[in-house]
Amino acid sequence: MTIFGFCHPVRESWDRASESCYQLFPCFSDPVRRSSWGLKLALVTLHLIYVGILFLFDRDLIQKTKMEPWYTAIYLFLFVATLAQYFFTSGSSPGYVIDAMRAANETHSIFGKMSTTSNAYLTFMMIKQRQSASSKNGSLIVTVEGNQMGRNITGTNSTSWTKLVMDMYPPGSSVRSLTCTYCNIVQPPRSKHCHDCDKCVLQFDHHCVWLGTCIGQGNHCRFWWYIFEETILCIWTFILYITYLKANIARAWWKDGIVILLLATLSICAIFLLLLFLFHSYLVLTNQTTFELVRRRRIPYLRLAGPEYWEIHSLWIRIGASIAIVDVSPGSHLGIPERVYPFSKGICINLYDFCCARSSIYSMEPLPSPLELEVKSRPYTCCDVLSCRCC
Ligand SMILES: [Zn+2]
Ligand SMILES: [Zn+2]
Repeated sequence: MTIFGFCHPVRESWDRASESCYQLFPCFSDPVRRSSWGLKLALVTLHLIYVGILFLFDRDLIQKTKMEPWYTAIYLFLFVATLAQYFFTSGSSPGYVIDAMRAANETHSIFGKMSTTSNAYLTFMMIKQRQSASSKNGSLIVTVEGNQMGRNITGTNSTSWTKLVMDMYPPGSSVRSLTCTYCNIVQPPRSKHCHDCDKCVLQFDHHCVWLGTCIGQGNHCRFWWYIFEETILCIWTFILYITYLKANIARAWWKDGIVILLLATLSICAIFLLLLFLFHSYLVLTNQTTFELVRRRRIPYLRLAGPEYWEIHSLWIRIGASIAIVDVSPGSHLGIPERVYPFSKGICINLYDFCCARSSIYSMEPLPSPLELEVKSRPYTCCDVLSCRCC
């Protein structure tokens, strides 16, 4: 019997097994989803290995659990909560622009229907007032009740979306340069197309490979909580491993070898997670995203918000010419001054917006005006420090 003759039936039975698996779990037929589930499985296994070996080797910990059960109970609760938070974040929507567009169109059509009767008109005005109050705070909020998003996007709807989005940019901005070439949608400020998800994401932060999803406006808060819990769990496990090693070193060389190896990887993970946690806390306090911080000088919408753009714009207006063609490519000298956080509304409001943002609400922030930027770029004085200007 040749190798081919042996391999052929094995391959056939493997194909049959995988086909029946795909029928039972259709999500595994997609290679991207399969690798995403593979990563999730690897992460859960890693967690179980670290905690399992600790409880397997450390007799003192078992003894301590019998004497002080609350200590181990809190640790295990954190372990379960971290994994639950991981799956919760992974399964949440980052806030896609297409969904915001459907929600905005749905709201628009509801407003249209409501305005026909007087009672409905009153409701409409109340909602409108709420919207204008939100706009005064520097953001426009579209509320979606349940899952009533429209399926078909008509030409009229996309026109109203274009108008809604273009109002958030300085006058004279080119619609073409702000339209995503993949989704064919005008992108609101702070959104970006993700090539892994193949969708535009509101307040795009980054695409997380470990979570298998984008981190954006809808799930950044959940992501922050996940890295917070993971950091605490990692540091706590590190302390437990150190305690074990101190008490049991040189008892069994192979046990020491395994524990030292796990400890070395754990310390790298703990440092990485701590830095990531501090970095994202800084982003939250200043209302920035990783993408905006890293690619600040190359992002078209940040270049449009720069004072030079407004100067060019007013110059063109003064001489009475068209302003449609303004170079906002990465090579041009437009942009926001250094050390100015264009979307920051103060630490307290930034924190409130971040913590209280719900996934059913799509928040779109307009670009700051030159006056707002000028106020933000003013150096801090003693009075500013005393009056907590940054808050
Ligand atoms: Zn896109
Ligand atoms: Zn993505």
